[in-house]
This record gives sequence, C-alpha cells and structure tokens, in this order.
Amino acid sequence: MPTVETVRGPVDTADLGRTYMHEHIFVLTPDVQQNYPDEWGDEGARQADAVAKLRALAASGVRTIVDPTVTGLGRYIPRIQQVAEQVPDLNIVVATGCYTYGDVPFFFHYRRPELRTVLGKSEPEPMVPMFVGDVTEGIAGTGVRAGMLKCAIDEPGLTPGVERVMRAVAKTHLVTGCPITVHTHPGTHQGVEVQRVMAEEGVEPGRVVLGHSGDSTDVDHLSRLADTGFWLGMDRFGINLDITFEARADTVVELCRRGFADRMVLSHDAACYIDWIDPDTLPFLPQWHYLHIEREVLPHLREHGVTERQITTMLVDNPRRFFEGS
Ligand SMILES: [Zn+2]
Repeated sequence: MPTVETVRGPVDTADLGRTYMHEHIFVLTPDVQQNYPDEWGDEGARQADAVAKLRALAASGVRTIVDPTVTGLGRYIPRIQQVAEQVPDLNIVVATGCYTYGDVPFFFHYRRPELRTVLGKSEPEPMVPMFVGDVTEGIAGTGVRAGMLKCAIDEPGLTPGVERVMRAVAKTHLVTGCPITVHTHPGTHQGVEVQRVMAEEGVEPGRVVLGHSGDSTDVDHLSRLADTGFWLGMDRFGINLDITFEARADTVVELCRRGFADRMVLSHDAACYIDWIDPDTLPFLPQWHYLHIEREVLPHLREHGVTERQITTMLVDNPRRFFEGS
C-alpha cells in the first residue's frame, strides 16, 4: 500500500481523503521574529489560534493539507508537531526545499558547487544532501519526514539562484521519489521554464504541481501545460487582489469543460499566521481563509456545470494519484 509521510507518520494514500495541496500554517521571518517578537506575541495564543482554524478546516471535510513551508518561509517543525497533536483529524504533509525568487540564501551563496567540487565533496550542490535527508531521515531530529519538495520561480524568471534550487529539488526527487510543487508566476508563463528544467533533469511532469496556475485566466496557456502532463495548482483561492473570485472560479469551470478536471488540484495558499502581511490589511482579503473553497468556490463551480464527480476528482482522486505517482 503506497503511503505519504505526514507530521504524525506515514498515511496510506487511500486514506488522504479530501486534500488541499497548498496551505501554510505559519509563514514567518525567523531573524526578524527573533529580534522583534512583539507582533507574534504569545506562543500559546498563536498555537491555540492555529489549532482552532485547523479544527474548523477538518470539520469542513478536509482530511489532509500539504504545508509547503520550506527554508525562506520560516519552517519550524517542532511547532507544527505541537499543533498537529491537537488536530488529530487532519493529516499535515510538510515539505523541504528553498523559497526564493532571486538569489539563494547567503547560507548557500558561498557554498558554491564549484568550490565544493574543488574540495572533493561527493555532491557538489549542498542543498541536495540536506533535502534528501529531510525526506529519508527526517527534519532536524524530529523524525518528521518531508512528503513534498518545493521551489519557486516568479516574475524575475530563471535567475541563477532560482535555477540552482530548482535543479537541487529535481535531483532530490530523482533520488527519493518525493514529488514536487513549484511556486510559479503564470502571468509571465514561468511554467514553460519549469517544463524545460524538469525535462533536462529527467523529472516526469506528472510528479510536479505548477503552483499558483490559478493566478492566470489564460486558459489556453494552462491547457498547454496540462497537456504536457503537469498538475495545475488552482491553489490561491481567496487571494483576490489582481484577480476576482469569479475569474479564478470560472477558470476552473472552463478547464473542467475542456476535460482537465483530472489535471487540477485546489487550495487557498492561506495561513493561520503570516508575518509578511500587516494584519491591518487582512480585511481587504476577506475570503483568504481555509473555508473559502467549501463555502464559496464549490457552490460556484456546481452552479456553473462542474459535476460532483469532477469535484471529487480534483479534491480527492488527483492528490492521491499525484502522491502515488500514477
Ligand atoms: Zn504558498
């Protein structure tokens, strides 16, 4: 029976149930938080808030979330373990990788593959053994293994740093079999760059989610990417700033009409707490929370001809198939 690693250990893929493929719990900037801790405030209160939000998510019928919070986004697994223990009805898959739109973090900047080669290291890219260890042995001594790999490419495109991380993630995938989610910027067609790099590295498109595809309404472009075998992450429902809720939902409707229900996964890219956002601006994003899909998106899809079968495909069958690699 194929399994997926979660915070509480492996889960049969058949038991993943309704799965939101891209939800954060905490997105933090650790060196800012360590020096200016006032906004974070009380640890117990923050965790209690997260537990309440995740319990409400589980009560809405979601059995599993993938939390692609990696280096650059403030991943801290002991805190996630404490939260997960209090939400036993929800599986939480965590990730490894590195999040940047430009350069690699300075930790890696001077640990260059060329230098490591001169030093005689067996693997020139230091990220690869770190990521592989997270998948095969567990993260930072917690015993929690990553079930997903994560990298990013945004408007600046395939910068040297972005390419380094993407190739390290691809190499880790080839060693471990762990699948990949990529933060993309579909408005500038960065999925095409992902397609090229993954092909060069020998990664099957069926093991890769092109995250944030739903930020685009260019259905022809998204159809081409889906046709090549990639998964489309329609995974920012509720971030309705440059694009309306209706436009996001109608893109899913049209892709379903074109026969791509079996290539899409749905999610919000929400968080219990994200220190990137001034809390005073959150009222401008009233639908950006874990319950928006259940409350507003699914009714909209049903009203516009998406069938119950297609909804189950996107929310249950596709995540299972993605993790099974089938
Ligand atoms: Zn995200």
